Amino acid sequence: MRTKLIVANWKMNNTVPEGLKLLAALSREVRETKECEVVFCPPFTALFAMSEAIEETPFKMGAQNMHWEESGAYTGEISPLFLKDLNVQYVLLGHSERRQLFGETDIMVNKKLSQAIRQKLIPIVCVGETEKEHKEGTTFDVIDLQIKKALDGQQKTELAGIVWAYEPVWAIGTGKNATPEQAQEVIQAMRKSLAKITDVPTAESMRILYGGSVSDEKAKGFLKQPDIDGLLVGGASLIPQKFAAIIRATEAPQ
Ligand code: PEP
Repeated sequence: MRTKLIVANWKMNNTVPEGLKLLAALSREVRETKECEVVFCPPFTALFAMSEAIEETPFKMGAQNMHWEESGAYTGEISPLFLKDLNVQYVLLGHSERRQLFGETDIMVNKKLSQAIRQKLIPIVCVGETEKEHKEGTTFDVIDLQIKKALDGQQKTELAGIVWAYEPVWAIGTGKNATPEQAQEVIQAMRKSLAKITDVPTAESMRILYGGSVSDEKAKGFLKQPDIDGLLVGGASLIPQKFAAIIRATEAPQ
C-alpha cells in the first residue's frame, strides 16, 4: 500500500517571513495528516527557518533542486549535504522549469538521481511532455525515454521507494489539466516501463504523482485514480485554504 504524497512546490515565491506565515496558516488548517505525507519545497533561502518551524507540524521538508556533487567549485549551487544538514528528506529533480529555463538535461537529472540515492534523500523525478509532443501523440515515448535516461546505470536494488511526478509541461502553471483519466493512463504506462527496467515489486513501491494546475476542486478526481499516488502542486500550494483542501482530498471517501 503506497501512502499518498502531496508536495507543495513554492517555486521562486515567499520570503522567509512569508513562508513561515504560510506554514503557520496551513498548520492551523491541517493539524494531522492521517492518510498522506505532506512535503513543502520552499526556496533554498527559507529552508533553514522552515526546517525548524516544521518540527512542530506533521509536515516534511523538501528542496526544489540540488547539485550532483557533494562540494566543489560550483558557484551558486546547492550541495545535497547542505539539504541533509537542514533535515530535508525529499528533493525535486528535473522539474520542467529547470529543464526548459535552465538547460537541465537528462544526463544532469541522471547524475542528480544517483547522488540523491547515495545521500538517502528521496528523489521526486519530474517527467512530462511538451504541448507539441502532446499534440503529436508522442507522450508515452517521450516519458519512457526520460525514465530510461534517468535510470541509466543506476543500481536497481537502490530504486525502491523513489518518487516520480508526471507533469505535462503544457499543464504547469497554465490552468490547463490533463484529465484524471489521461493522467492515469500515462502513469499506468510509467509503472509498466518502471517494472520492465527494474521489476514489478520495485515499480509497485514507487509513488507516481500527477502535477499540472492542480486545484482544490480537481484534486479528488486525480486521487481517485488507481495509479496516481499523490499530487505535485505549484500555484495552489501558495494559498493555505486551497492547499489544505487538496490535503483533505486524500481523506475523503474515494
Ligand atoms: C509545479 O510547479 O510542479 C506545478 C505543477 O505547478 P502548477 O500547479 O502551478 O501548475
